[in-house]
Amino acid sequence: MIAEVIVDVTTKAIDRPFDYRVPDRFKDLVKAGMRVVVPFGPRKIQGFVTKVKEETDIKTGSIKEIVDLFDLSPVLTDELLELSHWLTEKTLSYHITALQSMLPAAMKAKYEKEIQVLSEEELPQSLKELFGQRESILYADIPAEQLKQIQKHVQKGHLEVRYHVSQKSGKKKVRMLQLAVSKEKLEEKQQQLKKNAVKQKALISYLLQAGETTFLAKDLQQQTGASSQTLKTFIQEGLLTESYEEVYRDPYRDREFTPSASLDLTPEQREAAKHIHQAVSEDQHETFLLHGVTGSGKTEIYLQTIDHVLQKGKEAIVLVPEISLTPQMVQRFKERFGSNVAVLHSGLSTGEKYDEWRKIHRKEVKLVVGARSAVFAPFENLGMIIIDEEHESSYKQEEMPRYHAKDVAIERAVRHQCPVVLGSATPSLETYARAKKGVYTLLSLKHRVNQQQLPHVSLIDMREELRNGNRSMFSEELMIRLKEVLERKEQAVLFLNKRGYSSFVMCRDCGYVEQCPHCEISLTYHRYQKRLKCHYCGHEAPVPSECPECHSEHIRYFGTGTQRVEEELTKVLPEARVIRMDVDTTSRKGAHEKLLTSFGNKEADILLGTQMIAKGLDFPDVTLVGVLSADTSLHIPDFRSSEKTFQLLTQVSGRAGRHEKAGSVIIQSYTPSHYSIELTKQHDYEAFYEQEMLHRRHQSYPPYYFLAMVTVSHEEVTKAAHVTDQIVQFLKMNCAPNTRILGPAASPIAKIKDRYRYQCVIKYKRENELASLLRKIQDHYQKEMEQKQLMISIDMNPYMMM
Ligand code: ADP
Ligand code: ZN
Ligand code: ZN
Repeated sequence: MIAEVIVDVTTKAIDRPFDYRVPDRFKDLVKAGMRVVVPFGPRKIQGFVTKVKEETDIKTGSIKEIVDLFDLSPVLTDELLELSHWLTEKTLSYHITALQSMLPAAMKAKYEKEIQVLSEEELPQSLKELFGQRESILYADIPAEQLKQIQKHVQKGHLEVRYHVSQKSGKKKVRMLQLAVSKEKLEEKQQQLKKNAVKQKALISYLLQAGETTFLAKDLQQQTGASSQTLKTFIQEGLLTESYEEVYRDPYRDREFTPSASLDLTPEQREAAKHIHQAVSEDQHETFLLHGVTGSGKTEIYLQTIDHVLQKGKEAIVLVPEISLTPQMVQRFKERFGSNVAVLHSGLSTGEKYDEWRKIHRKEVKLVVGARSAVFAPFENLGMIIIDEEHESSYKQEEMPRYHAKDVAIERAVRHQCPVVLGSATPSLETYARAKKGVYTLLSLKHRVNQQQLPHVSLIDMREELRNGNRSMFSEELMIRLKEVLERKEQAVLFLNKRGYSSFVMCRDCGYVEQCPHCEISLTYHRYQKRLKCHYCGHEAPVPSECPECHSEHIRYFGTGTQRVEEELTKVLPEARVIRMDVDTTSRKGAHEKLLTSFGNKEADILLGTQMIAKGLDFPDVTLVGVLSADTSLHIPDFRSSEKTFQLLTQVSGRAGRHEKAGSVIIQSYTPSHYSIELTKQHDYEAFYEQEMLHRRHQSYPPYYFLAMVTVSHEEVTKAAHVTDQIVQFLKMNCAPNTRILGPAASPIAKIKDRYRYQCVIKYKRENELASLLRKIQDHYQKEMEQKQLMISIDMNPYMMM
C-alpha cells in the first residue's frame, strides 16, 4: 500500500505529492485527509495524505515509509481535499499552504529538536548531570555553554539529534478522581486516622457524604482543603484512582443563554425567506443576495432558514466579519440553537479554536458561526452557507493563500448543491452588479421591522465651522446634540473614521485633496521625499504650498487619534462618561467584550471608537451617532474608497435608533457634497451604486474589469524597481491588447521592515493565460525568492491596494 503525501515544506520544487510506503502496522488505518509523519532528507516532517493507492513507479529499494500517524481519522474530508486543488490554482499558492489554511492554527506542525542519549557511559560528568535520569532533552533547553560539547559527542555517536513532530496545541485534559473502595472501607480508614490528620479526615467525610463517586480533582481540593500530597497518599493507598479526561475549552461556558423562539416574520421577511427555503428544500445551489437596510431583520431570516436546514438533518456555516463577531451576535445564535453551535473567531485562544473545530469534526454540532476561515468547516452534509455583511474586506485573506471567502463558499455550495446567502445593507459593487444581471438572486428588504424610521442624518460642513471660528474637532451641532443626549440620559456613539494606513494632504478651508489625473485615486504623501505619488501608475507631484482650488495656506496632513479625541471630549464635556474602544484599549483578551458590556449596562454615556464599533452593535438607548471625520476613508489610495466610505457611514448610521427611541446621525465632513457622503443622508444605495458604476466603467475598474496585483519587495530600491519593471515588460508582451498593465509604481507603503516595495496592477477583461503567465514569473524568480532576498507576492483579486 502506497500513500501520496504533500509534505510540510514551502518550496516550489517540493510542492507536489511524494510516494511513501504504508507499513503493515498502519495498513488499515491510513486514509486520504490524514496527517502523517514522514522522513524527508535527514529530518522527519509532517505531511498530508492526499491519496492512497496500490502501486508506485518508485523503485522498491528507494521508497521510504510513513513513520507515524498524526490522526486516527481524516482531518480533511474528500471534498476539502479536492477543494484544496482548486484553491491552490485560483490563488497561485503552494498546495501545502492551501491544505494548512483549511485547519485551525493549533493544528499546524511544531518541530522540536531533541538530543537523545545513545551511550551514557561515554559522556563527561557535566553532560551526565545535564541529562540526569532523562534519555533525551529538548535542544532548546540546553544551556549555550554546553552546546559545543553536545556537538562533539553527537559527532562521536554518543548522542543523537532527533526531530520530534507535534502540533502546536493539544487537547485539554482534566484530572479526575474516582472512589475505588466501598464506603465501609472508607469508614474503616477513618477510624484508623490519627487525631491531628485533619485534612485527611475532612476528605473522607466529604467522600462519605457525596452522592457521586467521580470528582474533578480541582473541585475535591477546593471543597475539602486537601493538599496534593493528601490526594497522592489516598491514590497510593488505593482509596482513589486517578484518570485524565479530555474536555473542551469552551469560551462561552460560563454564560447563560435563554432559549429564544422564532419571531413572526414580516411580509417582506417572509417573501425573502420563502425563496431561500425553496432552494434548501430542493437541494439546489443558488446564490442569493439579501439586500436589506440596517435593522430590517436579516439575522432573523438567517436563523429561520438555518432552522430549516438543521431540520433536514443538514449543516450550516454562518460567516460574520471578525469585528462584528460580538458577544451580542454569538448570543443570538446560541439562544436559538443552544449547544448545536460552534463559534470560531480570533478572539479565542488557539486552544479554544481547536476545541471548537473538533466539535465540528466529531459531528457534535451542526452549525458554525465564525470569521473567514470557518468557511472550511469540515461538514460533510452542508445545507447552506451564509455570509453576513458580505461587502466586508476581512473576507479576503491577505496572506497565502489569498482567497476570498465568498468564492470558497460558492465553490463548496456547488459541490454540496446548497444555497449561499450573501447579506448586506450595502453590498459590494461586484455582488450587486451580479445580482442585477441575474447571476445571483436578489432579495430586498426595504423597511426596518416594526416600521421604525431610518435615522435622520445631518451633514455638517467642517469648512463652514472653521470659517465661523470653530477650530475644535466637534461641530456646534454635534455639541448641542451630545448635551441633549446627556440630559435625557440616553447614549451616543462617536465614530472616528481611521482606516489602516492613510496619509494624504488636505485643504482645511475647502476640503481639496489632490488626485491622480490618470487613476482617480488620492495621491499619497511620502514623507521622505516630501512628494505626492500615485501608487497605481507612478504619477508624481510636488506638495502644493497653497491650495490650487481656494489658494488657502491651510493645506496639510490629515489625521487624529482616538486618544486625542477623548482628551478633547473630556475637556468640553467634563460630565460625560466616555468609553474608548480602539486597538490600544482592546488588545487584551476579553477587553472588547467587557467594554461593550459596560456600555450596555449604561456605565458610560458615550462610546468613542474606530471601525470596530461600526457594526453589529445593537443598544436600545443609543439615539445619537456622530461621525467625526467622514473624509478619511474617502482619501485612502484605493479605487474602492468611495464604496468603503458609503458602506461605513451607512453602517454607523444604522447603530442609531434601532428600538423604540428615534435616532439621529451627525456626519462631519470637509467634502459633504461628495456623492458617497451626500447619498448616505437619503439612505439611497441604489443611487450610490449607479454613480459609482459610472466611475468604475470610466476608469476600467471592477466590476467592469478584473484586477490582479503583483507586489515586489527587496532591500535595494533599485532591485525592487528593476524586477517590477521586468515583470511589467513581460506581461505587456504576453497579455491581450485590451489588458492594461500599470506600473511599476512605488507601493503606498513604500517600505516595510527595510524592504522597498513596488507594484504592478493588471486590469483585464478576458485573459485565459494570466494565471500561467504569473506562474512563469514565480518560477523565473524562484531561486532568488528562496534565498529570501526577493519577495514577489501575487494577488489574483486584490482588496488591499497597498
Ligand atoms: P439586521 O440584521 O437586518 O440589521 P436584525 O435581524 O438585527 O436586523 O433585526 C433588528 C431587530 O429587529 C432585532 O432586535 C430583531 O430581534 C428584531 N426583529 C427582527 N425580525 C423581527 C420580527 N419579524 N418581528 C419582531 N422583531 C424582529
Ligand atoms: Zn482649498
Ligand atoms: Zn495614477
